[in-house]
Amino acid sequence: MQVPFIDLKTQYKALKKEIDSNIQKVLDHGAYVNGPEVVECEKKLAEFVGSKYALTAASGTDALLIPMMALGIGPGDEVITTAFSFIATAETIVLAGATPVYVDVDPKTFNIDVSKIEAAITPKTKAIAPVSLYGQVADMDEINAIAKKHNLFVLEDSAQSFGAMYKGKRSCNLSIVGGTSFFPAKPLGCYGDGGAIFCNDEKLHIAMKEIREHGSEVRYYHTRLGVNGRLDTLQCAIILAKMQRYPWEIEQRNRVAKRYSQAFAAIKAKDFSFPFVHEHNTSVWAQYTLTVSDRAAFIKTLSESGVPTSVHYPRIMPDQPWYAKHGGRVHGDVSHARWAADHCVSLPMYPDMDEKTQDYVIEKVIQALK
Ligand SMILES: *Cc1c(COP(=O)(O)O)cnc(C)c1O
Repeated sequence: MQVPFIDLKTQYKALKKEIDSNIQKVLDHGAYVNGPEVVECEKKLAEFVGSKYALTAASGTDALLIPMMALGIGPGDEVITTAFSFIATAETIVLAGATPVYVDVDPKTFNIDVSKIEAAITPKTKAIAPVSLYGQVADMDEINAIAKKHNLFVLEDSAQSFGAMYKGKRSCNLSIVGGTSFFPAKPLGCYGDGGAIFCNDEKLHIAMKEIREHGSEVRYYHTRLGVNGRLDTLQCAIILAKMQRYPWEIEQRNRVAKRYSQAFAAIKAKDFSFPFVHEHNTSVWAQYTLTVSDRAAFIKTLSESGVPTSVHYPRIMPDQPWYAKHGGRVHGDVSHARWAADHCVSLPMYPDMDEKTQDYVIEKVIQALK
């Protein structure tokens, strides 16, 4: 049996009618950029998240960079973030001109360890940029409280957590601004690159909208430094179709995760762990990630049985070659993050995974750990 890591084909088949007809509508009206589906998509996204405003963006990376530019985060500023994330988290801080300051993760959730944040604050600190990793929201109440005390911005990197719940509220709407990604492999994906930004502040929303459009207030009149950060109409039309099924997909992702966790609860192996989710959180399971002691052997054994795995992420951001030279400062010791980078491994996870396929994965995981 060859198991897919994610299965977008079954999803497409289930939505084929809606997706095809939404695409055809765009081809017929021809407004490929800034078309009516963009506005409609943003309205639906804001409704879903519960925020006042939503802006689609060309990628999750732009959905992080644009808010930083709008908030005036730049040279001389420090932004506190986790050491353990996809590189775009640190990259956008550097692109904005600021310095990332990395702190360690909580070894249970692999999200930023909030008890380490305050000690990393300096007079240069301008913002905290937590990541809601693997689909579970970071400890936003604690982070917002620290930010309030020290007068800092909080930008949630929600690239992996669109749709996740935290104490009854949606990810992306838990701080001054949140940015998500619609990269195809994310919980809600489009058919290319894409992202979105959420906020409740009108001035910030307008600034971000202008930055997304080359910093123009009106066409050919540029009052700010901007980027071309728009999401095209076709992608918005696809997201509109996919959003109809997304609440069901979140339930299914949780069904799959629950079955995995029930099966793995009995495993006693060195360094083995399966995901811990706080009671106040509902994850969207961007990844279902284990830790194992001999990762290379584990991956090889599973792969020989037709079970693909993936490593998110094999190297912490401050240890990436360019970043080790230029990109920021590590605060204190980041040993939990380094340990995670050495031991984490993600299993196949998608809403349409049937029980037979999952039982096969479970059997192979248990065998590999014996
Ligand atoms: C995917 C991802 C991004 C970047 O999103 P893109 O759409 O690929 O640009 C940023 N941060 C995290 C944590 C991600 O997983």
